This record gives sequence, C-alpha cells and structure tokens, in this order.
Amino acid sequence: MLDDTLKQHTPMMQQYLRIKAEHTDKLLFYRMGDFYELFFDDAVRASQLLGITLTTRGATAGQPIKMAGVPYHAAEQYLAKLVKSGLSIAICEQVGDPATSKGPVERRVARIVTPGTVTDAALLDEHKDNLLLTISPANNDILGLAWLNLSSGAFFISEIPAQQLTATLERIAPAEILIADDAEYPAITDSISLHRLPTWHFDRKRAQELLCQQFATHDLRAYGCDDMDNALQAAGALLQYAHSTQRGQLPHINGLQVARDNEFVGMDAATRRNLEISETLRGEAAPTLLSLLNTCATHMGTRRLRHWLHHPLRDRDALRLRSSAIATLVTAPREREQLHQQLRDCGDVERISARIALSSARPRDLSGLRDSLALLPALQPLLAQLDNPLLTQLAADCAPQSALHTQLVAALRAEPAVVLREGGVIADGYDADLDELRGLQTNSGEFLIALEARERERTGIATLRVEYNKVHGFYIEISRAQADNVPDDYRRRQTLKNAERYITPELKAFEDKALSAADRALAREKMLYDALLADLLTHVPALQTLAAALAQIDTLCCLAERASTLNFCQPELVDDNVISIIAGRHPVVESRIAEFIPNDTDLSRSRQMLLITGPNMGGKSTYMRQTALITLLACCGSWVPATSARIGTIDQIFTRIGSSDDLAGGRSTFMVEMTETAHILHNASKHSLVLLDEIGRGTSTFDGLALAWAVARQLAEKTRAYTLFATHYFELTQLPNSLRQIANVHVQAIEHKDRIIFLHSIKDGHASQSYGLQVAALAGVPPATISAARRKLAELEQAATHDAQQPDLFSTVAVAPAHPAIELLNGVNPDDLTPKAALELLYTLKSLNP
Ligand code: ADP
Repeated sequence: MLDDTLKQHTPMMQQYLRIKAEHTDKLLFYRMGDFYELFFDDAVRASQLLGITLTTRGATAGQPIKMAGVPYHAAEQYLAKLVKSGLSIAICEQVGDPATSKGPVERRVARIVTPGTVTDAALLDEHKDNLLLTISPANNDILGLAWLNLSSGAFFISEIPAQQLTATLERIAPAEILIADDAEYPAITDSISLHRLPTWHFDRKRAQELLCQQFATHDLRAYGCDDMDNALQAAGALLQYAHSTQRGQLPHINGLQVARDNEFVGMDAATRRNLEISETLRGEAAPTLLSLLNTCATHMGTRRLRHWLHHPLRDRDALRLRSSAIATLVTAPREREQLHQQLRDCGDVERISARIALSSARPRDLSGLRDSLALLPALQPLLAQLDNPLLTQLAADCAPQSALHTQLVAALRAEPAVVLREGGVIADGYDADLDELRGLQTNSGEFLIALEARERERTGIATLRVEYNKVHGFYIEISRAQADNVPDDYRRRQTLKNAERYITPELKAFEDKALSAADRALAREKMLYDALLADLLTHVPALQTLAAALAQIDTLCCLAERASTLNFCQPELVDDNVISIIAGRHPVVESRIAEFIPNDTDLSRSRQMLLITGPNMGGKSTYMRQTALITLLACCGSWVPATSARIGTIDQIFTRIGSSDDLAGGRSTFMVEMTETAHILHNASKHSLVLLDEIGRGTSTFDGLALAWAVARQLAEKTRAYTLFATHYFELTQLPNSLRQIANVHVQAIEHKDRIIFLHSIKDGHASQSYGLQVAALAGVPPATISAARRKLAELEQAATHDAQQPDLFSTVAVAPAHPAIELLNGVNPDDLTPKAALELLYTLKSLNP
C-alpha cells in the first residue's frame, strides 16, 4: 500500500519517504549538496526549534513540500540544540556518485544521533555523564534496568521494586530512556527523552546471545547476573539499540556490572533537590555543593566529583580509602598542586577513548591523547612518591604508555587540522608514499629549481622566478619590463601591475601531476588515519583504565585542595550508631556570608531526635541541611566542614523541607508535604538521617499539630531514625518528657529595642518565644500593621488565659497542669517495665480515672 501512495511522488521524494518510513520517530537530515534538508513535519519542527526559515518548494503528490535546511558544515551546532531538546536525528548522506546516478543519488542513513547515545565532543555536556537507560517490562512488580555510558563504555544493570523507580531515575539521571511499546511509568517525566521499542526486543534468550557475543564469553556467569532475567532483558534491548544507532561495533563495551541498590546511601528526588547538590532549588548550577567543591582540573574530574556527590557509598572501606588519599594530599600541598597543574594540560581521555572505540575520533582527539600521554612520565613518579594505598594503585594505572605515545608523535602533526577532509593531519616523515605525494604537490623541490635555472638561461631574464600559489597553481613570473622577451611557448596566466605570470607546457604537465598528487595525498592520508585508528583499538582497555585513574586523581586533588582551603576536617567513619559533629558549618552558606556561626550536632541512640525551635530566619533549616551535607560528604569519602565529626553507618538520607506546590502534578502544598512524609515513614530505617521542617503547617492548627506529633512519635519510637525536626508547635517540645531519645534544642535570638537579633547558635532546651512580629517587622511589614498585630496578639493571649487552650508554641500563658495519669505515664519508660510492673501500672492508671 505504501508503494501505491509512493508512486504519486517524485522519484526523489519517493526515496526520501522510503528512508523516513524507517525513522518515523526521528528527524531526518537529508543531504542535498551542501545542505541537510528537512521536509514536511520535520521541517516545521526544526524551524520552530532551530529558528531556521521554513520554505516550500515545488510540489509532490499535489501538495507543496514544506522544507527547511541547515548547511552541512554547521550541522553540529544544530544537532546539539536538537539533542538538548531531547530529539533523535537520523543523518542521511549521499553515497552514490551524482555524475553517474540515474534518478536521485543513492542515499543512506549514515549516523543516528540520540540524546542518550551521542559521543561527539560538540554535542555533549563535558561536565555531565550522558547515560542511556532501558527499563524492562515489570515482572511481579520488579523492574529490570540497564544503563550505559557510551562515552566511557560503563554498562550497569540492576533490579528494583517498581516503587523505587522515581528515586532511581533521579540518581542515575539518564539523558534518554528506552521502554517497551506498551509500557507506562508515571515516574518518567516529560523532561526525559523517551523512546519505545517493540516488546520482542526484550526477549531474554536473545539478550543472552547478544551480551555473550558482545563480551566474547560463553555465558554471563562471570558477571554474577545469571538469575537477573529482568535486568538482562533490559541490557539486551539496550545493546541492540546502541548498535543500531552507532551502525558499527562497540568494542569498548566489554563487560557489565551489577549495581546493587544497597551499595549507595539512598536519597530520593526531593532530598537531592533540597540539599542543592548540583542544582539550586531554582534549577541553577550555582551556588551548590558541586559548584563550591569543584576545582577539578579536567572535565573527567568534574564528572567524577558530580558522580560521587550523587552516589554516596555505604561501603566504609571504600570511603576510608578515599578519605585517607585526601589526607595524604592535604599534607603534601606542593605535590598536589603539581599534580593538578599537570592535569590542567590533560585532555578528556575517557571520551577520546570511546570515540576511538567507535571509530569516530577526530584528529584533535588523537593529538589531545598524545599530549595527555606525554604527561604520564612526570605524573606517575609524582604520585608514586606519595605513600598511600589508593594513590599507589592509581599511580600503577597511570604507567606511561610509551609505545602508544611514540606512535602518536610519529603519526600526527604537532597541531593537526581540525578535520581530516583537507589533510594536514599526518606528520611528515611518517609514511614515505605520503611524503612523496606531498612533495610533488607543494614543494616542487629540485625539479622547480632546475626549471627556473633552465628558463633563466633560455630567456636571458635573470629575475625570472617559478612560483606557486593555491589559486593559480604554478607559474613563471617575469617583470613587466622583460615581458617582451618571453619565448613563444609561454602562455600568459595572469597580469599584475608590475609583472606577468606565464605557464609553459612543461610546467603545466608538472602541475597536473602535482595536483593529482594532492588528491592522492589526501586519499593516502585518510587511509593512514583510518589505519591508525584501527591500530589504536587495541589500546582502548588500557586507555579506559588510565582515564578512570586520571578522573579519580583529579577529584581527590580537588577535594584535598578544598579541604585545606575551606578548613574541613577528616571525618571518622565509625560503626556505632552516632552522628556527632563538633562546630559543623553549612559549606555553601558559609561561602556566601561574612561570618558563619558553627554548631554542634549530637545524635545517638539515646538522643535520636532533636526538636528544633526558634524564630524564622534563626537558622533552623541551615542547621538541618548542614548536618545532612556533612553526613553526605563523609559518605562520599570527602572531608567535612567541621572541627571534628564521627559518622556512624548511614543507609539513607531523607528531607522534607520547605513547601512547594506541585501544580503541574495537581497536588497542593499540603498534599506534597504529606506524600513526602508518607514516603519517609514507609522507607526510613534506624540507620537513616531524616530532616523534617515544620510538618503539618499546611492545614488547620489542630490537624497539623496532631499529625506532627504522630509523625515525631513514629520516627522516634518505631523507625528510630536519626531525626532533626524543626517545629513551631509548642506541644511537641513536651515530647522529650515522655520519650527520652528526643531532645529539645533551639536557635538563639535576642530582642533589642523591639528588634530581633539572630545569634544563629544552637542551644539545648526549647525556645521561649517565636518572635513572629519582630521577624515580620524585619521583613518590612508596615509599622501600623505590626502595631495592629501586637494589639490582636494581646487580645488572643487574654482569651487563651480563660480557656487555656493555646495550641501554638511560645504562648506566654502557663500550660494547664497535666492530668495525674499523664504525669504518671511521663515518669515511666515502658522498656524498663517487667510484665508484672506493667500490669500494676495499668491498675493504678485505672484508679486515677475520676
Ligand atoms: P530558618 O530555617 O530558621 O527560617 P534559615 O536556616 O533559613 O532560617 O536561615 C536564615 C538565614 O540566616 C540564612 O540564609 C543565613 O544567611 C543565616 N544563617 C543561618 N544559619 C547561620 C549560621 N549558623 N551562621 C550565620 N548565619 C546563619
């Protein structure tokens, strides 16, 4: 049927439509001469996204053809924009020879660019890993995931319960997701590029075959994933897709790793946002933890640092290795600075190696690699002299690769051309044939000297010169005064003001030879370049190891430099149940204000929850966040902003801070708050750190208070998580009376002449006042309004004295005496009671009932 419809179109459009039919979900860049043209709906979309002109041209099947085009030499910048917008593009080149073609030139899709599979330097964000992720259809609520960094070859699989998908996607942050045709996942937001695959791509048996073939192994036992059917289905589908977009081999993908969910300290999407790890709450790149810490010398280091901050580890041994490497580098500032200095000259070896593997490396990639390898003979001994297990291991990975370096030095010009198209890449002296062709082409050498001498003699013109330029080729130049004396076989080529330029049959013959030599030299250069690339393939595994080592060295040097400059301390990672921080600081807030007041945090099994009270703007959320950031940094192996810190085992960090409507998702502030709270209550454990800011503010006072109270009790009694709980509810400050693992602390503020002064220091006990009106005055609420509020407050307090039902914190009214049963209960700890004592207590309580 398609054929029938096609017949109505012009032959070229038929060809276009046939190719487009295989790439319906992509924009098709269709090469016509010096342009890539887009047609029909593709043209409309591209013109909107790229701001290029939409035109119409001729007609096909009776309809005008909408069309938009981009010049081929500027295609990269347009591709970059489209890929950033989450689109995939099929690039269709002319492969036939226009001169000999009957009908339209033969064309073929040569390259497919998708957001998750780009590897071109021009299309990638150098500060971020670019990942492609596949989700297999759910099986008993278990999802299989596979994700690939095509720019490094790192390939992971994992299996997770379906409800963890949102948090997992937030952690991995893929650029593109592949799912089965009929699958739906609410966790996938519109901001991620989504591609659907036929369900049969997820076949388990086919996945096994593909993966074994890729890794050249008999089975997958070595990877410890034999029983992970769901994840392997995803891996198979992913590999097939990666192959189809790259149209070739992927030799740098030579194994996969199983990512266990419990490898990392868990953080959900809200926590990552609230802690402003690599993005502010407004979505900006600075000021964030990453922007403060990143003094990496290479893009590889920056990407590694970002990865570490988003993947805090539970493995204490791995953390201790990093932390002690940082300690060594802190105490060796000179060596550290030298290492960093060397790395500043280092290229992106990770991405260059991937492009070598994909046969898409450009000349400057190879010269960049050559210059990076040149650093190793100095870098390795520098590292090796530092006495530290991790640095010693990294030094071994940075062993000079002298054979490869020598080969690159010999093969490439010092500054090779950006593109191979016009030559100028392969060094002189590398290949005798190329040298000869080049010699013929430009350096006329002895032939031209001899010719010049002969012609001078023949014509008797001593000033005659044989020259060459790119526009006119070879010529004999004679001054205007001598022009009458030229022999008959001289043909005029060009007339200048004071000179005439000629060509002779002999020179013309030489020129023809030289110019054909230019074409042959180019072809030879291309052949040599391809052969060099093919040769380099064998070095890819060693280069990947080198890249990983360079990234780590850079990140460790960066964290050591930050630790010194920002006055961090080495945290002690302990197995006890404790988060004990002396003089902790919020690193980002500290970097932006004149004087930051350090505060202690002391959490343990017997002091598991801190109820934090005090005025708005007093520093409650800063204090909570700094505790989380210090814990997070310790779990990345970094040093921390404090004078000392002991951090016990941590499995997850949760935050419920600030309020934001999720209008797009149709949820009110209160709903968002409660959803996040529910998530915490379901998932936190006694090894989790939980930050809760003003739970229950979005509803009526009694509702809110009741909820806050119940949530606090649940966390303190059942979950037993380390919890920082900021609140304005007075009733909550009574909780420590009955639950000894809860303690009151408050942010200090004092009042001076009706003004409030924030001291920002955390003290034991609860706050005595809320200072709401003073803070409002500070915020610029007009004095008349403040006075009116003061009068109303007095009235309310008066009324409250009568009914003694003041639910809000910081009332000046004395709280009504508790019922004797409550007082009795406050005095007992259920854990200390024997069954008999508990029964007796029950009888006593019953007797108190009036
Ligand atoms: P709250 O949560 O109590 O309303 P914040 O934590 O948002 O208060 O702090 C308000 C401001 O006070 C911060 O933006 C910061 O400028 C300042 N601040 C907070 N903590 C400190 C501190 N420890 N030292 C100095 N300034 C601080």
